[in-house]
Amino acid sequence: MATVELENISKVYGDGPPAVDRISLSIRDHEFIVLVGPSGCGKTTTLRMIAGLEVISSGKLKINDRVVNDVAPKDRDIAMVFQNYALYPHMSVYKNMAFSLEMRRKELRLTRAMIDQRVKETARTLGLTEVLDRKPKVLSGGQRQRVALGRAIVRNPQAFLFDEPLSNLDAKLRVETRAEIKRLHMKLRTTTIYVTHDQEEAMTMGDRIVVMKDGVIQQCDSPLVVYENPTNRFVAGFVGMPSMNLIAGRPGHNGEFLLGKQVLTLPEKLAQAARAHGAPTVVLGIRPEQISPKSETRFAGSGNVLKGVVQVIEPLGDRVDIHFRVDELLTMICRTETHRAAGIHPGDTASFHIAISHCHLFEDSPAGENLMRKLHQKTAAMA
Ligand code: ATP
Repeated sequence: MATVELENISKVYGDGPPAVDRISLSIRDHEFIVLVGPSGCGKTTTLRMIAGLEVISSGKLKINDRVVNDVAPKDRDIAMVFQNYALYPHMSVYKNMAFSLEMRRKELRLTRAMIDQRVKETARTLGLTEVLDRKPKVLSGGQRQRVALGRAIVRNPQAFLFDEPLSNLDAKLRVETRAEIKRLHMKLRTTTIYVTHDQEEAMTMGDRIVVMKDGVIQQCDSPLVVYENPTNRFVAGFVGMPSMNLIAGRPGHNGEFLLGKQVLTLPEKLAQAARAHGAPTVVLGIRPEQISPKSETRFAGSGNVLKGVVQVIEPLGDRVDIHFRVDELLTMICRTETHRAAGIHPGDTASFHIAISHCHLFEDSPAGENLMRKLHQKTAAMA
């Protein structure tokens, strides 16, 4: 079991910009932490530095309070599971799982019987007992990924590192394996660092998620906090599917939000944040599920309505996504229960009710800071 500490870690390749830029992160013992972000944001590089597969350009990496920057990967006592499984094709499942232990049998002071027991026990946990004699090529993708997991588990490492381990599986298997990895983590409680570009995977698996962009950590919090209180516009748009609607408009003196010819009334907390910010434009963030073509109780009394022309309706079974265009300015998405969309068709002009008290307000700038958070921090600092 392990704590993993990243102190101001950077990685620079050649004379390019930093792939990872001074990131600091304290990973607790037993924690399941997920690094998530778009392609190229530096998550794999971060994981590879933790594994020892990539030299750290600057900063300190500590495992259990010991600086390990110069410790060889095999001496860090962590196991990595890759996207492409990296199984030995000529070896049986059993051999694949036993191999790393057999190679270091003397060093680890293990007998053959101990290795045999560990492999068989792990195979049982992962439902691989029946296929122990088979070669990887006759296994399904899901079974191969379980063997790769098994190979990591038998080593009983201090930490697991996962690099997009589910990317090669089809959607159904991905969901099943994701639950399996979580179940394993609950059982083994081994500190786990997991990389994915898939925000849903991150949200469902992580105790905390670390959202990265351009080599920089944007936010590190529990999935719910990241969802409900995103630190900036990037995080707001990255987490949640469909993405949050982010619409630029002008704040008025009396708490209005002016969007072209239409007007919304901001709740006091958002109006106050806009006033404190003082800029001529701000960005309102509305999650698609906070919009409905028919008023619901959670919209009660707000009277906040945007008119739009319906463009596309995407049925999802119990819900539908409605794409609508507002004043030729922008397209927004509403996700609502199917029955609420009854009678609405592409081309119709419809009124969309906004649950404004659930909305967010951001700076209209590249950093796009969350203005409510900013105001809170300012107030806390003054107190
Ligand atoms: P992906 O999901 O596409 O793997 P990622 O978030 O894991 O993306 P990294 O693979 O860590 O991103 O890459 C971060 C940046 O570092 C990218 O700009 C990438 O081009 C660059 N990079 C990664 N490896 C190398 C390398 N060996 N040499 C030069 N640049 C590299």
